[in-house]
Amino acid sequence: MSRVLIIGCGGVANVVIRKCCQVSEVFTEICIASRTKSKCDALADLLKDRTETKITTAQVNADEVQELIALINEYKPELVMNIALPYQDLTIMDACLACGVNYMDTANYEPEDTEDPQWRAVYEERCKKDGFSAYFDYSWQWAYREKFEKAGLTALLGCGFDPGVTQAYCAYAKKHEFDTIETIDILDCNGGDHGYAFATNFNPEINLREVSAPGSYWENGHWVEIPPMSIKREYDFEGVGKKDMYLLHHEEIESLARNIPGIRRIRFFMTFGQSYLTHMQCLENVGMLSTAPILFEGREIVPIQFLKALLPDPATLGPRTHGKTNIGCIFTGKKDGKEKTYYIYNICDHQECYQEVESQAISYTTGVPAMCGALMLLTGEWKKEGVYTVEEFDPDPFIDALDRYGLPHRENHNPALVEE
Ligand code: NDP
Repeated sequence: MSRVLIIGCGGVANVVIRKCCQVSEVFTEICIASRTKSKCDALADLLKDRTETKITTAQVNADEVQELIALINEYKPELVMNIALPYQDLTIMDACLACGVNYMDTANYEPEDTEDPQWRAVYEERCKKDGFSAYFDYSWQWAYREKFEKAGLTALLGCGFDPGVTQAYCAYAKKHEFDTIETIDILDCNGGDHGYAFATNFNPEINLREVSAPGSYWENGHWVEIPPMSIKREYDFEGVGKKDMYLLHHEEIESLARNIPGIRRIRFFMTFGQSYLTHMQCLENVGMLSTAPILFEGREIVPIQFLKALLPDPATLGPRTHGKTNIGCIFTGKKDGKEKTYYIYNICDHQECYQEVESQAISYTTGVPAMCGALMLLTGEWKKEGVYTVEEFDPDPFIDALDRYGLPHRENHNPALVEE
């Protein structure tokens, strides 16, 4: 029996909410709160006769801590799920602390305005210290650790698929398969085709920022940064076939480097088709990916936000996306003194997701783990005070829940390795 406040009502939140409604015995009451309340009302209306979960809705600007505090104090949830954008991570964490409520999200903090001088000063120091220049990193949210500990609350960070399930896979490999892990390659393959020349599978602004940034990987105790898309490998994915994939910076590398002792190297690869890359390169060359406001006909606009308005809404891609995703982790290391390799992954079919929750597989593979993470916190399977990433909890009940609620894991004890 629990009451949960879900902030955001976009592509991923639509899946989270529908999956929570499938587990009404735990999610007895939910409140969907977002910037545009009409989206929350429409979904609540659609689901009301299909679930035992009692759904209410609210309007909130999650950039405003006081608005969040008022809403949380009125609704009195046990958990706030931030399924809005990474821009709101810190304001929602502040509100949770003020109200004594647990927190979770699916992506680590990044600022909306990367030109803000105060943020930039901290960012430039951090780049020098850490050796990677992505706009997103865990330092902002890790800084809340003591406050959450003292308040006796839990903050669960990055509980989607990647970050999220990929870290549970690492914890699972460490617990069951290896004495020592030497290398981890995280592979994110989307073999889906939506028929558009160019569209992103989740929020375009966040997605384009991520993939246009320099890549980086962890090796021998430090970061190695490379120009964007400059390391390319081919991999033959079960369920999809051969795909080109590119090395990206990704947030879970940062926490795994701390939490997997003795690790020699962690890399993250994502597949992209040539059409996506050509469009992205062109948009970048003409300045459309910029987050800095420009004056246009007497009005300030942010180029990447204007681009977002032109691109298809990821939430509408469901009916037209066909094919599968294959996301997982390949490990090398030792067990009982012997070298071994291991691959743990999930394959998800875009059309099967659409039949179940009217969404494509990218939102599905993010939304199901978010619901399962909430389930772990609400049922007490995961109970620790402070600020944590997924690999810091017992992976077994979480992977069981994923198996049960739509993302079953597969294993291969003799996988092909990614070329060095
Ligand atoms: P969408 O853009 O589809 O949805 C975002 C939602 O947040 C919208 O409902 C939007 O409202 C709402 N929102 C935005 N700003 C505010 C605000 N200030 N106050 C209240 N509500 C706000 O994004 P997605 O659903 O595609 O992505 C959601 C999250 O999932 C992102 O953080 C993304 O990074 C993360 N993600 C994580 C993945 C993982 O594997 N870990 C993979 C994919 C995504 P409105 O309707 O008014 O715009």
